[in-house]
Amino acid sequence: MNRYGVLLTLSICALLTYIYYQDKAPEVTVRSMQHSKKPVHSPPSPSNVTSADDPDIRKILALFHSGNYQAAMIHAETSINNPNIQTSTKAWIKRQLPNIKTSWAWFLMQTGKCDDAIIFFEQSLKSSQSAEAIKGLAICQFKLRKVDEAEESFQRYLELNPNDHQIGYLYTDVLESQGKYREAIEIIEQLEKQNPLLSRRKSNLENKYEESHSQSRLSDQLFTLTWNIDIHEDIANLILEELHAAAMHLQNHFGMELPTSNIEVILYGREVFDSVVPYSPKWATALYDGRIRIPINNSNYNIKKLRKTLRHELFHAFLAEQVDRRKIPTWFNEGLAQLAECINSCAPFNFPPTPSIFLSRQDLEESWTKLDKTKANLAYRQSYYIILFLVSELAKQKDITSEENTSGEGLINRLGRSSRLDSDSLLEEVPITFKKLHELAQASWDKRLTIHH
Ligand SMILES: [Zn+2]
Repeated sequence: MNRYGVLLTLSICALLTYIYYQDKAPEVTVRSMQHSKKPVHSPPSPSNVTSADDPDIRKILALFHSGNYQAAMIHAETSINNPNIQTSTKAWIKRQLPNIKTSWAWFLMQTGKCDDAIIFFEQSLKSSQSAEAIKGLAICQFKLRKVDEAEESFQRYLELNPNDHQIGYLYTDVLESQGKYREAIEIIEQLEKQNPLLSRRKSNLENKYEESHSQSRLSDQLFTLTWNIDIHEDIANLILEELHAAAMHLQNHFGMELPTSNIEVILYGREVFDSVVPYSPKWATALYDGRIRIPINNSNYNIKKLRKTLRHELFHAFLAEQVDRRKIPTWFNEGLAQLAECINSCAPFNFPPTPSIFLSRQDLEESWTKLDKTKANLAYRQSYYIILFLVSELAKQKDITSEENTSGEGLINRLGRSSRLDSDSLLEEVPITFKKLHELAQASWDKRLTIHH
């Protein structure tokens, strides 16, 4: 089989989620909030309180304003239980505690720790129904795919702030997971009045709603599979079995953990795929945008290619869950996804028939969804080459087991929800900078050195 040809049909990656949102703004806001160093909530300034000179109040305010929310929270809780502290001071602290907890929870969320953040959002909400706490809770539930809980929180938040179109947008994504297209369209229609960019989301939801009339869905402990009853009735079960086989593969050969939330997989007829998933590049055979979407017809598919596609897309889904759905450099995500496609021994790496340029670091790190087919093909091929190069270097340096060598396990396993995800951080333990790795891989590529793996 011509691998160069196979690569032409490879799929795009998790990054599409972010691009898709970016085009319509909402996720950008979530992310810009994530990068914001400002407190999301401020206690009243000392001039508003009678005991502003109180040392405990001053200390809590100082900690809070320096961004040390956890220390502010601990000092506040200790003070409340301290019998030597004045009643008026305690009353002030009790009033501030929900705000401090909400700020600490936002900080946790910003650093990829939604599991912990939810605990503090909920504690804060027990004593004060602040919109910020509900918003943070909703975003974390959304990120962790706690769909039903997120729906409730989004509703609560939007009752307080019905014009927050960014949160409204995320809410429609939750409704999409639940198949509640009409509700989603109604919300977008309201929000569209303020943000005309949302008209694209609206027409997309309308297309999905139209398609949903011929869809059926089935959930098990790991997947929710949706298919078209006119097209996929005969292959839906087969695909579900293959998805489980692919999940086992990622678990056994890559040491990846099964996600705790259900992964949505949607099959489309090839003809409707373009209208329902208009943001997909024309060269993609499938994509992951928070859901795995696969265009496939009942006949005319190649089971070996299908298995590769499923392993590839499922790798993106697993990795996205592992890092709290944050952006990952494309070369890393796609290079490893291609390694995840093959079982045991991968086919030998084939260079393009004629020598080609080596893409820049920036090209390899950014999204490839806007690239033309030729350049996208090169990007996939070179990211795979870089990963193979890296894995073989790792084997030389660290004398790791051959299993880890072929699987790239060592590169993935230490990635957690709170790991930093820029290229250099991903390579920290090798250790090598991305600049250096890129130089070495490029030199090897230019000499057309085959890497055995
Ligand atoms: Zn991919």
